[in-house]
Amino acid sequence: MNKPVSKVREAKLELYRKKGKIHAREVRGRFNTIRWAMVWFTQIIFYGACWLQWGGRQAVHFDIVHEKFYLFGLVLWPQDALLAAIALILAATGLFLVTALAGRLFCGFACPQTVYTAIFMWVEAKVEGDHLSRLKLDQSPPSLRKLALRGTKYVLWGLIAAWTAITFVGYFTPIRELLPAVAGWNLGPWEAFWLIFYALFTYVQAGFAREAVCQHMCPYSRFQGVMFDNTTRTVSYDVQRGEPRKGKGGGDCIDCGICVQVCPTGIDIRDGLQYQCINCGLCVDACDEVMTKVAKPVSLIRFASEQELAGMPRHSARPRLAVYAGLLGLFVALGAWTVTQRSLLLVDVLRDRGSLAREASDGRIENAYTLKLANLAEEPRDFEVAVSGLPGIELLGPTRFAGEPGSIREVRVTVVAPPDAGKSGASPIAFVVKAAGDPATRVTEKSTFVLP
Ligand code: SF4
Ligand code: SF4
Repeated sequence: MNKPVSKVREAKLELYRKKGKIHAREVRGRFNTIRWAMVWFTQIIFYGACWLQWGGRQAVHFDIVHEKFYLFGLVLWPQDALLAAIALILAATGLFLVTALAGRLFCGFACPQTVYTAIFMWVEAKVEGDHLSRLKLDQSPPSLRKLALRGTKYVLWGLIAAWTAITFVGYFTPIRELLPAVAGWNLGPWEAFWLIFYALFTYVQAGFAREAVCQHMCPYSRFQGVMFDNTTRTVSYDVQRGEPRKGKGGGDCIDCGICVQVCPTGIDIRDGLQYQCINCGLCVDACDEVMTKVAKPVSLIRFASEQELAGMPRHSARPRLAVYAGLLGLFVALGAWTVTQRSLLLVDVLRDRGSLAREASDGRIENAYTLKLANLAEEPRDFEVAVSGLPGIELLGPTRFAGEPGSIREVRVTVVAPPDAGKSGASPIAFVVKAAGDPATRVTEKSTFVLP
């Protein structure tokens, strides 16, 4: 006797979910389109930005050897670590805000793990066929055909992983220098290490680990719940409308299981909110298609908040959102202020400890100093140095020094003052360094002058 249809479906579902790796069924729809648009958007930026040139150099370049980060016309130095910290805090606050608004949107649409898994799965589907063909291939005994299909897939994955690693390292070693070095395997130890590591990392993460990374390795899936409230819109199954499922009562869900089959993490959204759900919306696309076919309204699965699903009126006040939005505004303002206050000249003054003070032939007292002048601009500039703080104090010798672009120059200077300029011992003085022809670039650095 034939098994009831629902039993067969359940058996298929269990087989599908528990045995081996997940072979998600392909689905069309608006969220799938958005997902692929994000894949194109992020990857055009990632693979393309390292090829852009700016002023004769790579536009985006983390120059670790010279401790600089080039971002088009902006050159950041280790002294700009505060800006990097603000950028990271901004990204985290933005992520919290988006999560509070609509759950794990980042995971479903922009996370590199999701993006590369989508690319690797696309290759897999092109080589091995749809989800059923892939399931069959998994279960089939070894054969020449299986070997050829698997071999082709692994080679294509390897090429993508290799190009991804070259691109990644190309942000640290200019890619136009890196490529010939890779071709001749003429690489430094760190470049070779990161190329191999990143290629293997991409290959394993996107080819094999896939949803396991989201479920077991990613810390974000564990704590994202704290950003949720009952107005956060996440992918949800409308239990009231769907249950009891068709065949058991008369809800809209026909228990076809397609929402499970398309899920890249292999979960059943009808079981409620689960930490494994990356909010990709593919089950929404799948169910909408099913509902259209059975002539029922779409959105049985949809982005909805607990409040909406319970039929409660929407509250406009959302303190959590206000806090995240406020923090975001604050850090944007702080970042903008830090950029405007950023000086392209850094000055460090070191007193010459070897000779505290000595008397010159004209009777005045001399103190020696070393000035470190960091020209953070990308063009050569001259710096004028002056000193103040005691009557009659002045620099002996040259007061103007040339600074090469993006370089630090050390200059030794001698300061003289009359012996009666102040009381015996150390008196506070100040060095004032100005960029010639640019009054806005001016740094005052304190020091001391010793009188016998
Ligand atoms: S796709 Fe829709 S109808 Fe089919 S099982 Fe899922 S929720 Fe039910
Ligand atoms: S349950 Fe739906 S939204 Fe969540 S991961 Fe699976 S397919 Fe994506």
